[in-house]
Amino acid sequence: MKIGVLALQGGFVEHISHLQSLQVDTFEIRKKTDLDREMDGLVIPGGESTTIGKLLKELDLYDDLKAKINQGMPVFGTCAGMILLAKQIEGKSNASFGAIDIVVKRNAYGRQLGSFFTEAEFKGIGKIPMTFIRAPYIETAEKNVDILSVVDNHIVAAREKNVLVTSFHPELTSDNRVHQYFIERIILKR
Ligand code: GLN
Repeated sequence: MKIGVLALQGGFVEHISHLQSLQVDTFEIRKKTDLDREMDGLVIPGGESTTIGKLLKELDLYDDLKAKINQGMPVFGTCAGMILLAKQIEGKSNASFGAIDIVVKRNAYGRQLGSFFTEAEFKGIGKIPMTFIRAPYIETAEKNVDILSVVDNHIVAAREKNVLVTSFHPELTSDNRVHQYFIERIILKR
C-alpha cells in the first residue's frame, strides 16, 4: 500500500511518521509528476488552508487530485485538510475539493486562544487524545455523512464514503488509531 501525503505546507512530516509506524509506504506530493505514482490513498495535512489551496492551483495539482477524489480515492484531511475537503466553508462561496457534504467554520474556536487538548470518543475506536490548533469544526453535516466524533456539541470528525476528516490533529499525539482507521476501514475496505 502506498499513501501520498500532500507536502506543500503545514504538518505533513508527522502524518508520514504515523503512517510509517503502521508499516505503510508513503511519498510526498509536491509537484504534478508526483501524481503519476500509484496511490492507494491521500492525506491532506493541517496548515493554512488558504495557502495550501492557492499552491494546489499554482502547481497545477488541483484538477488531478479532485478527479482522483471524485473517482473514489480514499482521502484523509486534518484541520486545514478538512477545510479543503468540505463542500462549504461558512462565509465563503468557493470551497476547494467539495468532497464531503459538510459546512465547516474556520478558526471556529477563535484565532489566538483556539488551541487545546482533550480526550473524546471516536466512533469505532473509543476514547482518543485530540489536539486542536486554530481548528475548524463542522457546523452541519448532511445525512449521508457519518458523524464520528462530537466535542462540546460540535462535530469534529466525520466520514462520507472515501472521505475522512478531523478538526483535530491525530498526527500530533502518539496515538495512531485514526490513521489505522483510515487504512483499515477506508482503504482496505474499498
Ligand atoms: N486555521 C487554519 C485554516 O483555516 C487551520 C489550522 C490548522 O490546520 N491547524 O486553514
